[in-house]
Amino acid sequence: MKVFQEKLCEHHAQVFTIDRQLYSGKTKFQNVLIFENRLFGRVLVLDGIVQLTDRDNHVYHEMLAHVPLMAHGSVGRVLLIGGGDGGTLKEVLKHPVEQVVMVEIDDDIIQLSKRFFPQVSGEAFEDPRVSLLIGDGVEYVTQADSMFDVVIVDSTDPIGPGEQLFTKTFYECCRSLLRPGGVIALQSGASSFNPEQLGGVCGRLASSFEAVRPYLAPVPTYAGGTLALIAAGESDKALLPAIKTLRERDRRLRLRTSYYTPDIHGAAFILAAGYTPRQKP
Ligand code: SAM
Repeated sequence: MKVFQEKLCEHHAQVFTIDRQLYSGKTKFQNVLIFENRLFGRVLVLDGIVQLTDRDNHVYHEMLAHVPLMAHGSVGRVLLIGGGDGGTLKEVLKHPVEQVVMVEIDDDIIQLSKRFFPQVSGEAFEDPRVSLLIGDGVEYVTQADSMFDVVIVDSTDPIGPGEQLFTKTFYECCRSLLRPGGVIALQSGASSFNPEQLGGVCGRLASSFEAVRPYLAPVPTYAGGTLALIAAGESDKALLPAIKTLRERDRRLRLRTSYYTPDIHGAAFILAAGYTPRQKP
Protein backbone atom coordinates (compact mmCIF):
# COMPACT_ATOMS: atom_id res chain seq x y z
CA MET A 1 0.00 0.00 0.00
CA LYS A 2 1.38 3.41 -1.00
CA VAL A 3 1.18 6.06 1.75
CA PHE A 4 1.93 9.74 2.32
CA GLN A 5 3.36 10.62 5.70
CA GLU A 6 3.28 14.18 7.03
CA LYS A 7 5.68 14.99 9.83
CA LEU A 8 5.25 18.43 11.38
CA CYS A 9 7.23 17.77 14.54
CA GLU A 10 9.43 15.17 16.19
CA HIS A 11 7.85 12.01 17.65
CA HIS A 12 4.61 12.25 15.67
CA ALA A 13 3.40 11.86 12.09
CA GLN A 14 0.11 11.40 10.30
CA VAL A 15 -0.34 8.98 7.42
CA PHE A 16 -2.76 8.95 4.48
CA THR A 17 -3.13 6.09 2.05
CA ILE A 18 -2.46 7.19 -1.51
CA ASP A 19 -5.34 5.33 -3.15
CA ARG A 20 -4.63 7.01 -6.49
CA GLN A 21 -1.82 9.39 -7.27
CA LEU A 22 -2.98 12.18 -9.57
CA TYR A 23 0.03 14.47 -9.83
CA SER A 24 3.56 14.83 -8.57
CA GLY A 25 5.89 17.62 -9.66
CA LYS A 26 7.88 20.68 -8.81
CA THR A 27 6.92 24.29 -9.53
CA LYS A 28 9.40 27.18 -9.48
CA PHE A 29 8.61 27.57 -5.75
CA GLN A 30 7.49 24.28 -4.21
CA ASN A 31 6.99 20.52 -4.51
CA VAL A 32 3.44 19.46 -5.29
CA LEU A 33 1.72 16.14 -4.64
CA ILE A 34 -1.96 15.54 -5.39
CA PHE A 35 -3.59 12.21 -4.58
CA GLU A 36 -6.88 10.59 -3.77
CA ASN A 37 -7.58 9.14 -0.35
CA ARG A 38 -10.74 7.11 0.25
CA LEU A 39 -11.61 8.99 3.43
CA PHE A 40 -10.69 12.58 2.56
CA GLY A 41 -11.10 12.64 -1.23
CA ARG A 42 -8.49 14.59 -3.14
CA VAL A 43 -5.54 15.91 -1.11
CA LEU A 44 -3.16 18.76 -2.02
CA VAL A 45 0.30 18.63 -0.46
CA LEU A 46 2.93 21.37 -0.85
CA ASP A 47 6.49 20.77 0.33
CA GLY A 48 5.33 17.75 2.34
CA ILE A 49 2.55 19.64 4.18
CA VAL A 50 -1.16 18.99 3.63
CA GLN A 51 -2.88 22.14 2.31
CA LEU A 52 -6.41 20.98 1.72
CA THR A 53 -8.67 18.01 1.13
CA ASP A 54 -12.07 17.71 -0.55
CA ARG A 55 -13.63 16.68 2.74
CA ASP A 56 -12.86 19.57 5.05
CA ASN A 57 -11.38 22.52 3.11
CA HIS A 58 -14.67 24.41 3.52
CA VAL A 59 -14.09 24.76 7.28
CA TYR A 60 -10.71 26.39 6.75
CA HIS A 61 -11.85 28.66 3.92
CA GLU A 62 -15.07 29.76 5.60
CA MET A 63 -13.41 30.57 8.92
CA LEU A 64 -10.55 32.46 7.26
CA ALA A 65 -12.89 34.55 5.06
CA HIS A 66 -16.15 35.09 6.95
CA VAL A 67 -14.72 35.90 10.39
CA PRO A 68 -12.96 39.12 9.25
CA LEU A 69 -15.63 40.08 6.70
CA MET A 70 -18.56 39.54 9.06
CA ALA A 71 -16.71 41.28 11.89
CA HIS A 72 -16.10 44.32 9.69
CA GLY A 73 -19.64 44.48 8.33
CA SER A 74 -19.21 46.76 5.31
CA VAL A 75 -16.20 45.63 3.34
CA GLY A 76 -15.44 47.30 0.04
CA ARG A 77 -11.91 46.18 -0.81
CA VAL A 78 -10.13 42.98 0.21
CA LEU A 79 -6.47 42.06 -0.19
CA LEU A 80 -5.91 38.30 -0.32
CA ILE A 81 -2.32 37.08 -0.12
CA GLY A 82 -1.73 33.47 -1.25
CA GLY A 83 -4.77 31.19 -1.41
CA GLY A 84 -3.86 29.73 -4.81
CA ASP A 85 -6.53 27.04 -4.60
CA GLY A 86 -9.24 29.73 -4.78
CA GLY A 87 -11.27 28.45 -1.82
CA THR A 88 -10.89 31.58 0.32
CA LEU A 89 -11.54 33.73 -2.74
CA LYS A 90 -14.84 31.91 -3.36
CA GLU A 91 -15.96 32.59 0.22
CA VAL A 92 -14.92 36.28 0.13
CA LEU A 93 -16.96 36.75 -3.05
CA LYS A 94 -20.13 35.67 -1.22
CA HIS A 95 -20.02 39.17 0.32
CA PRO A 96 -21.00 42.29 -1.64
CA VAL A 97 -17.38 43.43 -1.96
CA GLU A 98 -16.28 45.91 -4.63
CA GLN A 99 -12.89 44.40 -5.35
CA VAL A 100 -10.59 41.60 -4.25
CA VAL A 101 -6.91 41.96 -5.08
CA MET A 102 -5.39 38.49 -4.88
CA VAL A 103 -1.59 38.16 -4.85
CA GLU A 104 -0.40 34.57 -5.31
CA ILE A 105 3.28 33.80 -5.85
CA ASP A 106 2.81 30.52 -7.74
CA ASP A 107 0.60 30.48 -10.83
CA ASP A 108 1.13 26.70 -11.14
CA ILE A 109 -0.83 26.19 -7.89
CA ILE A 110 -3.77 28.12 -9.34
CA GLN A 111 -3.71 26.06 -12.55
CA LEU A 112 -3.30 22.72 -10.74
CA SER A 113 -6.09 23.60 -8.30
CA LYS A 114 -8.45 24.54 -11.14
CA ARG A 115 -7.66 21.22 -12.80
CA PHE A 116 -7.79 18.86 -9.80
CA PHE A 117 -10.03 20.77 -7.34
CA PRO A 118 -12.48 22.67 -9.60
CA GLN A 119 -15.22 22.77 -6.96
CA VAL A 120 -12.95 24.50 -4.41
CA SER A 121 -12.81 27.78 -6.38
CA GLY A 122 -15.99 27.29 -8.43
CA GLU A 123 -16.34 30.37 -10.67
CA ALA A 124 -14.29 32.60 -8.35
CA PHE A 125 -11.38 33.25 -10.71
CA GLU A 126 -13.81 34.45 -13.40
CA ASP A 127 -15.55 36.98 -11.13
CA PRO A 128 -15.08 40.53 -12.49
CA ARG A 129 -14.48 41.85 -8.96
CA VAL A 130 -11.19 39.90 -8.79
CA SER A 131 -7.82 41.39 -9.75
CA LEU A 132 -5.35 38.52 -9.78
CA LEU A 133 -1.66 39.35 -9.53
CA ILE A 134 1.02 36.68 -9.78
CA GLY A 135 3.80 37.80 -7.48
CA ASP A 136 5.22 37.81 -3.99
CA GLY A 137 2.79 39.05 -1.34
CA VAL A 138 5.68 40.55 0.64
CA GLU A 139 6.77 42.70 -2.31
CA TYR A 140 3.18 43.70 -2.99
CA VAL A 141 2.53 45.03 0.52
CA THR A 142 5.76 47.02 0.59
CA GLN A 143 4.89 48.79 -2.68
CA ALA A 144 1.09 49.00 -2.71
CA ASP A 145 -0.51 52.41 -2.38
CA SER A 146 -4.21 51.50 -2.38
CA MET A 147 -6.10 50.83 0.83
CA PHE A 148 -8.22 47.86 1.97
CA ASP A 149 -10.89 47.06 4.56
CA VAL A 150 -9.73 43.49 5.10
CA VAL A 151 -6.42 41.71 4.50
CA ILE A 152 -6.45 37.90 4.46
CA VAL A 153 -3.22 35.92 4.45
CA ASP A 154 -3.97 32.41 3.15
CA SER A 155 -0.39 31.22 3.17
CA THR A 156 1.58 28.06 3.42
CA ASP A 157 3.39 27.47 6.71
CA PRO A 158 6.47 29.56 7.59
CA ILE A 159 8.86 27.53 5.47
CA GLY A 160 9.63 28.03 1.77
CA PRO A 161 7.90 30.92 -0.06
CA GLY A 162 5.52 31.56 2.87
CA GLU A 163 8.24 32.30 5.43
CA GLN A 164 8.31 36.09 4.94
CA LEU A 165 4.52 36.27 5.40
CA PHE A 166 5.00 35.69 9.14
CA THR A 167 7.34 38.59 9.94
CA LYS A 168 6.82 41.79 11.94
CA THR A 169 7.75 43.91 8.91
CA PHE A 170 5.13 42.19 6.76
CA TYR A 171 2.44 42.80 9.40
CA GLU A 172 3.47 46.48 9.69
CA CYS A 173 3.03 46.87 5.93
CA CYS A 174 -0.38 45.15 6.06
CA ARG A 175 -1.45 47.51 8.84
CA SER A 176 -0.45 50.54 6.77
CA LEU A 177 -2.71 49.32 3.94
CA LEU A 178 -5.81 49.07 6.14
CA ARG A 179 -8.48 51.74 6.23
CA PRO A 180 -9.83 52.74 9.67
CA GLY A 181 -11.78 49.82 11.14
CA GLY A 182 -9.77 47.38 9.02
CA VAL A 183 -9.16 43.75 10.00
CA ILE A 184 -6.46 41.22 9.11
CA ALA A 185 -6.92 37.44 9.35
CA LEU A 186 -4.38 34.69 8.80
CA GLN A 187 -3.70 31.03 9.44
CA SER A 188 -1.12 30.05 12.03
CA GLY A 189 -0.74 26.30 11.77
CA ALA A 190 -1.58 23.40 14.04
CA SER A 191 -1.64 25.07 17.46
CA SER A 192 -1.62 21.91 19.56
CA PHE A 193 1.70 20.85 18.02
CA ASN A 194 3.25 24.27 17.74
CA PRO A 195 1.95 26.70 20.38
CA GLU A 196 5.21 28.65 20.12
CA GLN A 197 4.42 29.50 16.50
CA LEU A 198 1.03 30.89 17.51
CA GLY A 199 2.56 32.85 20.38
CA GLY A 200 5.29 34.23 18.15
CA VAL A 201 2.88 35.33 15.40
CA CYS A 202 0.53 36.97 17.93
CA GLY A 203 3.51 38.82 19.45
CA ARG A 204 4.67 40.13 16.05
CA LEU A 205 1.15 41.23 15.12
CA ALA A 206 0.79 42.99 18.47
CA SER A 207 3.45 45.54 17.55
CA SER A 208 1.18 46.82 14.75
CA PHE A 209 -2.35 46.03 15.96
CA GLU A 210 -4.11 47.05 19.18
CA ALA A 211 -6.16 43.85 19.32
CA VAL A 212 -4.83 40.41 18.37
CA ARG A 213 -7.08 37.40 18.95
CA PRO A 214 -6.41 33.78 18.00
CA TYR A 215 -9.40 31.62 17.09
CA LEU A 216 -9.76 27.94 16.31
CA ALA A 217 -11.36 25.76 13.66
CA PRO A 218 -11.67 21.98 13.54
CA VAL A 219 -9.97 20.75 10.37
CA PRO A 220 -9.37 16.98 10.68
CA THR A 221 -6.75 16.84 7.94
CA TYR A 222 -4.43 19.23 9.75
CA ALA A 223 -2.29 17.28 12.23
CA GLY A 224 -3.99 17.33 15.61
CA GLY A 225 -7.30 18.30 14.04
CA THR A 226 -7.33 21.91 15.23
CA LEU A 227 -6.21 24.84 13.13
CA ALA A 228 -5.21 28.13 14.71
CA LEU A 229 -6.23 31.32 12.93
CA ILE A 230 -5.62 34.88 14.09
CA ALA A 231 -7.64 38.05 13.63
CA ALA A 232 -6.19 41.48 14.42
CA GLY A 233 -7.53 45.00 14.27
CA GLU A 234 -8.22 48.15 16.27
CA SER A 235 -10.18 46.59 19.13
CA ASP A 236 -11.59 43.29 20.38
CA LYS A 237 -15.05 44.50 19.33
CA ALA A 238 -13.83 45.01 15.77
CA LEU A 239 -12.94 41.31 15.63
CA LEU A 240 -15.77 39.94 17.65
CA PRO A 241 -18.87 42.17 17.51
CA ALA A 242 -21.93 41.37 19.61
CA ILE A 243 -23.61 38.15 18.52
CA LYS A 244 -26.79 40.17 17.78
CA THR A 245 -24.86 42.26 15.26
CA LEU A 246 -23.37 39.18 13.58
CA ARG A 247 -26.79 37.53 13.36
CA GLU A 248 -28.30 40.66 11.76
CA ARG A 249 -25.48 40.79 9.20
CA ASP A 250 -25.93 37.09 8.48
CA ARG A 251 -29.70 37.52 7.93
CA ARG A 252 -29.10 40.44 5.59
CA LEU A 253 -26.40 38.68 3.54
CA ARG A 254 -28.01 35.23 3.54
CA LEU A 255 -24.58 33.65 3.43
CA ARG A 256 -24.65 30.08 2.19
CA THR A 257 -22.06 28.33 4.32
CA SER A 258 -21.57 24.76 5.50
CA TYR A 259 -19.63 25.50 8.68
CA TYR A 260 -19.54 29.22 9.55
CA THR A 261 -22.40 30.70 11.56
CA PRO A 262 -22.44 33.82 13.77
CA ASP A 263 -22.55 31.59 16.85
CA ILE A 264 -19.52 29.62 15.68
CA HIS A 265 -17.77 32.96 15.02
CA GLY A 266 -18.18 33.83 18.70
CA ALA A 267 -17.38 30.36 20.00
CA ALA A 268 -14.19 30.07 17.93
CA PHE A 269 -12.57 32.83 20.00
CA ILE A 270 -13.08 30.99 23.29
CA LEU A 271 -9.78 29.22 23.86
CA ALA A 272 -9.10 26.52 26.41
CA ALA A 273 -5.99 27.05 28.50
CA GLY A 274 -3.98 24.52 26.46
CA TYR A 275 -4.41 26.62 23.33
CA THR A 276 -3.49 29.98 24.82
CA PRO A 277 -0.63 31.39 22.78
CA ARG A 278 2.73 30.85 24.36
CA GLN A 279 5.61 33.16 23.51
CA LYS A 280 9.02 31.65 22.88
CA PRO A 281 11.09 32.16 26.07
N1 SAM B 1 -4.87 25.90 3.40
C1 SAM B 1 -3.51 26.13 3.32
C2 SAM B 1 -2.65 25.60 4.40
O1 SAM B 1 -2.78 24.44 4.73
O2 SAM B 1 -1.76 26.27 4.90
C3 SAM B 1 -3.03 27.28 2.57
C4 SAM B 1 -3.40 27.07 1.17
S1 SAM B 1 -2.89 28.02 -0.13
C5 SAM B 1 -2.55 26.67 -1.24
C6 SAM B 1 -1.29 28.67 0.26
C7 SAM B 1 -0.72 29.49 -0.89
O3 SAM B 1 0.18 30.49 -0.43
C8 SAM B 1 0.05 28.66 -1.93
O4 SAM B 1 -0.68 28.65 -3.14
C9 SAM B 1 1.39 29.39 -2.06
O5 SAM B 1 1.89 29.42 -3.37
C10 SAM B 1 1.02 30.78 -1.53
N2 SAM B 1 2.17 31.57 -1.08
C11 SAM B 1 3.21 31.15 -0.32
N3 SAM B 1 4.09 32.15 -0.14
C12 SAM B 1 3.60 33.24 -0.78
C13 SAM B 1 4.04 34.58 -0.94
N4 SAM B 1 5.20 34.98 -0.42
N5 SAM B 1 3.26 35.44 -1.66
C14 SAM B 1 2.08 35.02 -2.20
N6 SAM B 1 1.62 33.76 -2.08
C15 SAM B 1 2.35 32.88 -1.38
